[in-house]
Amino acid sequence: MAEPLFKRLVLLGVGLIGSSVARIAMERGDIAGEVVANARTQATLDRVMELGIAHRVELDPAEAVKGADCVMFCAPVGAFAALAEAVAPYLEPGCIVTDVGSTKQSVIRDIAPLLPAAVHFVPAHPMAGTEYSGPDSGFTTLFQGRWTLIVPLPGSDAAANEKIAELWRRCGSMIEVMEPAHHDRVVAIVSHLPHLLAFTICGTADDLEDESRQQVLRFAASGFRDFTRIAASDPAMWRDIFLNNREALLEMLARFMEDAQAMARAVRWGDPAYIEESIKRGRKIRRSLIELKQA
Ligand code: NAP
Repeated sequence: MAEPLFKRLVLLGVGLIGSSVARIAMERGDIAGEVVANARTQATLDRVMELGIAHRVELDPAEAVKGADCVMFCAPVGAFAALAEAVAPYLEPGCIVTDVGSTKQSVIRDIAPLLPAAVHFVPAHPMAGTEYSGPDSGFTTLFQGRWTLIVPLPGSDAAANEKIAELWRRCGSMIEVMEPAHHDRVVAIVSHLPHLLAFTICGTADDLEDESRQQVLRFAASGFRDFTRIAASDPAMWRDIFLNNREALLEMLARFMEDAQAMARAVRWGDPAYIEESIKRGRKIRRSLIELKQA
């Protein structure tokens, strides 16, 4: 077995993503010699110990990070600034701080200024997930064949960046390096806008009068049903993502609304060629995803 990358890995947040990393680290043994989990509530930490997915749990984040050579922020992005403030004075020189947050400009804004100079910061985002949350929802194959985007800061330590890339490779990920603003635009279209549409369409269906609403649920064919899966995601996490990727999300939403208007016009005026062309583009994108094994 390869040498563990880290002596002590601390996970600040141990839900879907944190507990998946914890499970992999515990199973492989070559990611960290010791895995320490921190969460907001003792109930989550008790569950982590029952599941046996960390060596140790610690409710106080400042206590948790003492002696760590890697600290991974795995809470909702809106909690990062307060967490960074709580842990910063207790980070060891040389420690690598990283995160899994779904937004990157806000995370860099919230964490980087609070970290001591001798600590390395390597923002990252594993592009894998499900609609489930909490420590029970994680699993060891979550990141298998999925991309993790590493978003290194200008002038950052190359060895620290490489160690985090290697951590994600050992979790089964493929690595791509990206610049923060570009990251936020890409995820706005591939992830944040689809979630916004799913939450909205479920709200629209729920607003229908009683009788129609019951019919929607009874006869939900695959179209509506697929939206409800996405819409089942954690409210606090998605609230934080929307508020912390505001510009990129609003830009993608504006483009979407223009395109939706164009489609509405084609339907209203009976333009079969336009409608067919739009559907063909959708099918083409689906085929490309399947070919890239990301479907
Ligand atoms: P999750 O399952 O809801 O777990 C969140 C964890 O963070 C829990 O352990 C929770 O502790 C803790 N936490 C919540 N609020 C906190 C606060 N105010 N202060 C400190 N800890 C807090 O979330 P997740 O799906 O793993 O997502 C975690 C991060 O990964 C988010 O930043 C998200 O943007 C990112 N991400 C998510 C996905 C996805 O599809 N889910 C994909 C990629 C990246 P308690 O259980 O004690 O409340």
